[in-house]
Amino acid sequence: MARKTAVLHSEVFLAHDPGPGHVESSRRLEGLYRELAEEQQRQRFLFPEFSPADEDTLALNHARSHISRVAGTAGSPFECLDPDTYTSARSYEAACLAAGAAVAAVDLVIGGLADNAFALVRPPGHHAEYDQTRGFCLFNNIAVAARHAMQEHGLERILIVDWDLHHGNGTQHAFYDTDRVLFFSTHQYPYFPGSGALGETGQGAGEGYTINVPLPGGQDDAAFARIFNELLTPLAEQYRPELILVSAGFDTYGGDPLGTMMVSEEGYAYLTGVLVELAEGLCGGRLAMVLEGGYDLTIMERGVLACLGELAGDRRLPAANRKRLQQAAPPLRAMEQAREMAKKYWTIPG
Ligand SMILES: [Zn+2]
Repeated sequence: MARKTAVLHSEVFLAHDPGPGHVESSRRLEGLYRELAEEQQRQRFLFPEFSPADEDTLALNHARSHISRVAGTAGSPFECLDPDTYTSARSYEAACLAAGAAVAAVDLVIGGLADNAFALVRPPGHHAEYDQTRGFCLFNNIAVAARHAMQEHGLERILIVDWDLHHGNGTQHAFYDTDRVLFFSTHQYPYFPGSGALGETGQGAGEGYTINVPLPGGQDDAAFARIFNELLTPLAEQYRPELILVSAGFDTYGGDPLGTMMVSEEGYAYLTGVLVELAEGLCGGRLAMVLEGGYDLTIMERGVLACLGELAGDRRLPAANRKRLQQAAPPLRAMEQAREMAKKYWTIPG
């Protein structure tokens, strides 16, 4: 079935330049953007206009002092905000538009103008905390979008799936004490940023609404398929989200310069397919993906296009390939441990 998939992209995202030799460079998106400019792709997807997030929207998730600090970098050729995070003259502009793209993606899928959406932004967001930049991230795009969905659309249950190589510390912390967001993260561990241990499960009203699946390196498509099928799926079915948001990082690719995971283009397609099915079964298909990391230039183009094929439903992974992935996964100790932890709060088979 073909769906209306919105793709949010902008040349402004290429204007953020953290400096020569930085892995989080505009080259990550250039090839993909060229491909998306092809007539054939223009006809497959919606390419909506969108606006930068204004200060009040950013302040749904960030301290005003933090917003001012990032805004203060505008026009300056180079600023260092933390040991990993640098800015150029137009970084603040790009960061506001990145958050705005995530917000627009939410508005599009909730408003029914699109069935689902992918915000192809940079700088990434999931490491940004309430009052600080971190790990190449200035504002937490997905957290701002989730706050917007709660504040403006009154949503009570949002599932955020973070499959980036790195733990989404900023997103976890933003929603650690609420049950209005279920945060589910797979990540290499122990690794940057250091958080994301099994025992980090939320607090207060949020206890049990953070589920971390810390993993040793080397996990492949089949391992991630198993985690999504055996752990994420039963969790989502019980939580019954009104919206699914995805922090989509491609640094779990086998060959990424920052990690040692072994996910392939086919794996990204598979995982997206699982999320599309969950969204269709639970929340009218409302699914918005937001780009996070991914530093191998080839997979940025191929991986994102594979995900878009699943979102639009016109270029799905063949059923035989999906079946092969489902059957290939060996027992996975790290997932068993996460399942035991999740069972304290949820009914999980197995
Ligand atoms: Zn990452």
